Amino acid sequence: MGVRNGFVETIGNTPLIRLQAASEATGCEILGKAEFMNPGGSVKDRAAWWMIREAERVGAIRPGTTIVEGTAGNTGIGLAHVCNARGYPIVIYMPDNQSREKVDILETLGAEVRVVPTVPYTNDMNYQKQAERYAESLDSAVWVNQFDNTANRLAHYESTGPEIWEQTEGRVDAFVCAVGTGGTIAGVSKYLKRKRGEIQLVLLDCIGSALYNFITTGNPTMSDGTSITEGIGNSRITDNLAGAEIDWALQISDQDAVSMVYRLLREEGWFFGSSTGINVSGAIEVARRLGPGHTVVTVLCDGGGKYRSSLFNRAWLAEKGISPDLPEDAV
Ligand code: PMP
Repeated sequence: MGVRNGFVETIGNTPLIRLQAASEATGCEILGKAEFMNPGGSVKDRAAWWMIREAERVGAIRPGTTIVEGTAGNTGIGLAHVCNARGYPIVIYMPDNQSREKVDILETLGAEVRVVPTVPYTNDMNYQKQAERYAESLDSAVWVNQFDNTANRLAHYESTGPEIWEQTEGRVDAFVCAVGTGGTIAGVSKYLKRKRGEIQLVLLDCIGSALYNFITTGNPTMSDGTSITEGIGNSRITDNLAGAEIDWALQISDQDAVSMVYRLLREEGWFFGSSTGINVSGAIEVARRLGPGHTVVTVLCDGGGKYRSSLFNRAWLAEKGISPDLPEDAV
């Protein structure tokens, strides 16, 4: 009773946390699903376990099978933990624009990391394509394929969605979150829409991604510019995102996301990564549009520890033209 049996059983069942300043400023309940409290430290632990569990279920993993994935970070970290817990070797392909901290963590966890040049998805040398080819070249390997493997969104349909529904006792008016693979938003949206069709599902996008345009116009054309956020934004509609019931989309600037992360740190004691800054900024905007008295749920995706050399480095931020200080007119 109350005891969780080992690593994989510790994934999920995270708290739902009321964000105080955001709730008070909007007159809404702004609630964050504490995914940074998963045992591997992020929302991707759920997807990692569901995808490995599915591979086990269909008999794709035998003694000696290697797990291979292309990932910029949290999925790899989740997979490395799960693979250690289940006894599988893991090889990770990662683009070379990612922070050194992420490579270090993965290597510390025992993954073999192959850092490859950063090229678009359409290029054959893209890290995901290299991961797929490497897996094919081995006698026994599973290419996890988080973008198009729908066991990813199933994790959120079977766990995150029901948890949010139960924790709010069904009193949820909107769910908002940023998208990388689309697993989180697609799985949660399918569950919540099944429960009550009027719940608003809002996709949050960073600058330099195609998802905002996809939701608002139907065409996944890339927006101009780039973003310092990690793990979110996409240039294409993945199998996980395809068919997700999403009502509307918002674009959130890096400056707004960074200001929010610093504000949560200084004023409320939280230490989050940049995608959580996007999510909380977006939740506040959605709450303002809905008006007081509503409940808006978002995701607190991961902690800030992996981003010490970027998001939490003033000189690095200054190079990007972003300030960690609050604007004068912040409320
Ligand atoms: N935030 C962070 C920090 C992530 O690593 C990811 C996944 N890449 C996301 C958000 C987006 O989650 P999903 O892949 O389920 O869309």
